[in-house]
Amino acid sequence: MGIHINEQYNELNESYLFAEIARKVAEYQKANPDKKLLKMGIGDVTRPLARCVTDAMKKASDEMGTAEGFHGYGPEQGYAFLREAIQNYYKKFGVELDADEIFISDGAKSDCGNFPDILSTDCTVLIPDPVYPVYADTNVMAGRKIIYSSANEENHFLPMPDESKVGDIIYICSPNNPTGACYSREQLAAWVAFAKKHNSLILFDAAYECFVTGDLPHSIYEIEGAKDVAVELCSFSKKAGFTGTRCGYTVVPKRIVIDGAVLNKLWIRRQTTKFNGVAYIVERGAEAALTDEGEKEVSENINYYRENAKIMTDTMDELGIYYTGGKNSPYVWLKCPFGMKSWDFFDEMLTKAGIVGTPGAGFGTNGEGFFRLTAFSTRETTIEAMKRLKEYMQSR
Ligand code: PLP
Repeated sequence: MGIHINEQYNELNESYLFAEIARKVAEYQKANPDKKLLKMGIGDVTRPLARCVTDAMKKASDEMGTAEGFHGYGPEQGYAFLREAIQNYYKKFGVELDADEIFISDGAKSDCGNFPDILSTDCTVLIPDPVYPVYADTNVMAGRKIIYSSANEENHFLPMPDESKVGDIIYICSPNNPTGACYSREQLAAWVAFAKKHNSLILFDAAYECFVTGDLPHSIYEIEGAKDVAVELCSFSKKAGFTGTRCGYTVVPKRIVIDGAVLNKLWIRRQTTKFNGVAYIVERGAEAALTDEGEKEVSENINYYRENAKIMTDTMDELGIYYTGGKNSPYVWLKCPFGMKSWDFFDEMLTKAGIVGTPGAGFGTNGEGFFRLTAFSTRETTIEAMKRLKEYMQSR
């Protein structure tokens, strides 16, 4: 008896990726203080919040200072005005949601890990390799068995259902972090059919949906039948620059029933117990981002990142480097040239080109030999980085 830690924490892989990058960069800078490094590894946005968002936040802040406009604890599920704004946003993709299927969160990361709270720890979890590490780590913490679907060059980093790998919980991230790969409608329909066949629940992470172009799906609910088997997690972080302001949402369709329990009800029960809602001021800011004016301002920032991504993919095309992403995603996932391993290429980029990217091996076994660059830098940094990459390739 006595107090013990959750021993599952001992099962976690050492999360050394970003710490190791920081260590290597600091060491290099110390030895080469005059070298200007180009940071192309950041997953954080750099463009400021849109004017209409900060105006709405200022107005909400002023309201909070008046007796009539003060807001204390808000609804755990989020204010109706924001849920309605999200409902209208989904209509643009032809998706009809009930307002009470939408839960405002403090970002997609929390609910990626929190949602399985209402599912048994006996469930097996299917996670792509490589992928955003939060899915695996949070399920290791809970003690669930994890199986991996292989994302690789052969399937263009978009693994498809495989009868030999069935998970009760299936994480799908599209557009994907780190590979930037984005599923088509047909591919997502195959996942929905697979989930139905095996009675699985899909947790669909749409954090990068704002980068989707053309006819590719923004939401899994664009696929028929998805409301029976999928929960969707999304965020204002990348869409509207809320990484530091914290706001996202989770959609839990009322049609999903597991063990006779309506999942939406169970999630309300969980949220009302463990969560006290997102700040009124932040929710007003998020609402502003979804107005016509907000969409216009926000899309200027998204287009800025898109153009950065295009500069990168044009360079990869010119250099004949295999990559995924960049077209519907702020991430360009490239194959390290000359058969190099991820960390070797990282060192080469750092010391020979002064570029800091992210070694793919840090995102999973299949990431070995790949490298992630992001479009979230400034235009100047992106252009200079691509110039240096070309020079590096020519010098080899
Ligand atoms: N999901 C994916 C795939 C991400 O890459 C990130 C952040 O980088 C998140 C979720 C977290 O987003 P948020 O800032 O909303 O917590």
